[in-house]
Formats: sequence, structure tokens, C-alpha cells
Amino acid sequence: MMLNIVLFGAPGAGKGTQSEKLIEKYQLQHISTGDLFRKHLKEGTSLGNLAKQYMDAGNLVPDQVVVDMVEDKIKSDGPVAGYIFDGFPRTIPQAEALDKLLARYNTAINVMIALEVPEEELKARMIKRAQTSGRADDADPAIQQKRIDVYKNETFPLKDFYNKQGKKEDVDGIGTIDEIFGRICEVVDRHS
Ligand code: AMP
Repeated sequence: MMLNIVLFGAPGAGKGTQSEKLIEKYQLQHISTGDLFRKHLKEGTSLGNLAKQYMDAGNLVPDQVVVDMVEDKIKSDGPVAGYIFDGFPRTIPQAEALDKLLARYNTAINVMIALEVPEEELKARMIKRAQTSGRADDADPAIQQKRIDVYKNETFPLKDFYNKQGKKEDVDGIGTIDEIFGRICEVVDRHS
């Protein structure tokens, strides 16, 4: 049995940080579509150049492009203990495509963990991250706001999608990294 987790939350909610801890504890593979795009960008691939236009503006990369990239990754990984999906899915069509994709591997999402962080705290964290990440999309307040708005309009509805499947769990994303990790593990253990 695989353990597949969707880690969900607004930009700056702490998905990347908590993913690293989950990977270590549960021996999972990490699929961060944002990281994959940044890797393509650095390597100067055509996919990277395509994604850049959207990323720089704080918009979402088209669904089919994202889904194809995730499918390639899963295919090339071969058999694994499970996945943490971080920053994916971000739209209902992506979530539907992921369900279909996993079904082809006779597996499914176990749980979607929604990290809850108030908007003011998100902005403060993005500003802080910009100082070390070098991410252009963190540094510009207008792009920050755009990403939060895109999250609210296009990504937030996914909570309802997973809630209907009985898989949505809200986790308080305020506190120390270890406190939040403890809350997440309690939820994961209940769903695995
Ligand atoms: P992230 O690192 O997850 O904040 O992603 C950075 C940027 O990459 C986003 O603002 C989007 O432009 C793009 N991106 C990452 N994941 C997705 C996704 N699942 N769907 C569409 N665009 C994405």
C-alpha cells in the first residue's frame, strides 16, 4: 500500500518545510511542481521557458503542462512507498487528472492536509523567504498578492473537492515547525 499525501496551503503556508520532514519520516517521494518548474528554468529547457512567463506574473501554468510533467515524474520514479504532492494539484482539473493517474497505478490519495495560515502571516513569511530563496515571485508585493488571489480563486475550491471524498483535514499552520509537524503526523497516521 502506498501512502499518498496532498499538502495543501497558500503560498508561504509552510508546505516545503513540512514536506521535507514528512519525506524523512515516512520515506516518501516529493513532487513539488514549483520546484520542478524552477529546475527546468535553471536548466533552460523549453518547458522552463514556457513556465517562466506564468510564474513571473504569479499566474498558474496551464493544467495540461503541469499534469504531463507530474505524469512523467511518476512514470520515471518506478515503484515507491508513496508521494507527497506539494503545490499540486492547484485546480479542480489537476485534482481530477491526479485521481485518474493514481488509479492507473492502483493507488489513490490517502489524505489532503490543508495548512491554515492567516493572510498577513503569509505575506510576512514570503518577504522573509525572499531574502534567502532568491525567488523573484516572493520579493514583489504585487506578485505576492496576485499569488494569494490566484490561490483563493482557483486553488481554494479544492478543499471542497477533497472534503466530498472524505479526505480533507485542516491543520493549524501557526506555531513552531515541530508543533505543526506533530499535528500533521497525527493526521497522516489516522489516514494511513
Ligand atoms: P510554488 O513554488 O508552488 O509556489 O510555485 C511557483 C509557481 O510555479 C506558481 O506561482 C505557478 O506559476 C507555478 N506552479 C507551481 N505548481 C503549479 C501547479 N500545480 N499548477 C500551475 N502552476 C503551478
